[in-house]
Amino acid sequence: MFATLSDKLDLVFKKLRGQGVMTEDNVKDALREVRLALLEADVNFKVVKDFVEKVRTRAVGTEVLQSLAPGQQVIKIVHDELVLLMGGSEDNSLDLAAKPPVAIMLVGLQGAGKTTSCGKLAKYLKGQRKKPLLVPADVYRPAAIEQLKVLGRQLDIEVFNSLATQKPLDICREAHRYATLNGFDVIIYDTAGRHQIDDYLMEELEGIRDELAPREILFVADAMTGQEAVNVAQGFNDRLGITGVILTKLDGDAKGGAALSIKAVTGKPVKFVGLGEKLDALDVFHADRLVSRILG
Ligand code: GDP
Repeated sequence: MFATLSDKLDLVFKKLRGQGVMTEDNVKDALREVRLALLEADVNFKVVKDFVEKVRTRAVGTEVLQSLAPGQQVIKIVHDELVLLMGGSEDNSLDLAAKPPVAIMLVGLQGAGKTTSCGKLAKYLKGQRKKPLLVPADVYRPAAIEQLKVLGRQLDIEVFNSLATQKPLDICREAHRYATLNGFDVIIYDTAGRHQIDDYLMEELEGIRDELAPREILFVADAMTGQEAVNVAQGFNDRLGITGVILTKLDGDAKGGAALSIKAVTGKPVKFVGLGEKLDALDVFHADRLVSRILG
């Protein structure tokens, strides 16, 4: 059986109850457990280091409450600080405040879940009484165009008839014209991915971004890739200026610490999480749910 962080901290503080204030020494062992728990949850080590310092400052000298075991007190501090790090009660909703059709661009590495997330997002927006148009703009992988068309049919949401022989920029221009003429509110662009960031892909995405002036550029990150997702997020943010993140595959084993690191490193919020392959498996992001998951 794996002990939860909460159990471990209770053990660390077993003798402390009713002893006045938490000292540097008492807190040291507890913070070691916190550090391990965060690293195990894929939080980037530098983020963990800064974070643990913050908790130390808050915890040392804190009065030990009679009503709460000291371990629980530290958990509460850790929980509150993690929620703050994730943006606390910041508004992470989609920004669609522009003249329709509002452009949303999904970017990320191949296999992260972009195409699936486009479908999920379209379904979510349809549920909000919007009229979304799905646009496949990944001409390098004709199967991706077909995949989006299949999703569109399942959702009864229109998919722009992109052709693999077209240039992505031409597809985007035509789709925009089509959406304007046909009264669509939102256009969701599924862009090309690669196995790793390369210059050619970034130039193409920059060109699309400059043409569309999207209200949202959402980076799709696979939670299962852990810390690597953070480096990739930083690469996309540096080149494109992402506006938010969709963290996919949180239905798997990943604790989701990558979300914390991405937010800490890029400053951009996680807006949605993917919780399965089905098209309704998309949730609006809640910082406290993710934090509870990380602290297990
Ligand atoms: P893309 O290459 O970025 O467009 O990725 P796809 O949308 O094709 O997704 C790659 C694989 O990940 C597919 O098998 C999807 O069904 C799967 N997938 C996407 N999102 C999720 C998710 O939230 N949970 C799970 N379990 N699988 C997902």
